Amino acid sequence: MRLILLGPPGAGKGTQAQRLVAKYGLVQLSTGDMLRAAVNAGTPIGHQVADIMARGALCPDEIVVGIVEERIQRSDARKGFILDGFPRTVPQAEALDRMLARHGVALDAVIELRVNEAALLRRIESRIAEMRARGEKLRDDDNPDVLHRRLAAYRQLTEPLIAYYRRQGSLRTVDGMAAIPEVTAAIDAVLPSKPATAKPAGPDDGPKKKRTTKAVSRGPTIGKKSAKLSAHARKRPEGRKMTGRQP
Ligand code: AMP
Repeated sequence: MRLILLGPPGAGKGTQAQRLVAKYGLVQLSTGDMLRAAVNAGTPIGHQVADIMARGALCPDEIVVGIVEERIQRSDARKGFILDGFPRTVPQAEALDRMLARHGVALDAVIELRVNEAALLRRIESRIAEMRARGEKLRDDDNPDVLHRRLAAYRQLTEPLIAYYRRQGSLRTVDGMAAIPEVTAAIDAVLPSKPATAKPAGPDDGPKKKRTTKAVSRGPTIGKKSAKLSAHARKRPEGRKMTGRQP
């Protein structure tokens, strides 16, 4: 099973991903964790993204897309994965569509954790204050100012993905404000019973697959993508650089 968890920072994506890992034996691919690991290890990518992450802005699309493509090809991800924190922009989602088509796999569902932003802010701010009071170590981006910026980045750049995946027919929305076990149960209830079939690779999906000239049948979860979107994707010049826009 291949899933995306979509929702603003603090919506509980990480918590729900861990529960899905335990239940279905999937791997959790958190781009935030991968980027933090790169920063902590002092890799070239880590140096490129450290300041961006500390500000609460989004890292460049091409960096994030590159690390996801490398990660999904490892053996532990073959059985399935949960993308947590990726994609976060429409260009990332388009790159993911092309990447999955190239590898002959399909998304089973995109789970949106819908939250009330004001309540979420109160919840996270009180969690940060409690951690500070206990003297616990906080992440660099765990402070109210940065959190506001991360939420603004979510609204501006990531929220359009809800419409993107709704058009594809893969969006499933659950109430992310409910108690953790209830959210888990709601996710279970919306997961498809049958695995999705891979979408045939398109013109931009690289040379690995044969192109067909006939209209293609897409898998059940990505079959409703609008003709307008597909045409837009086809027009993208090969190798176009995708730059993460900063909020
Ligand atoms: P997260 O742990 O998912 O909240 O991510 C922490 C930070 O990592 C974000 O605020 C971004 O700076 C960066 N990041 C994580 N995933 C992405 C992504 N898909 N695109 C761009 N930046 C990302």
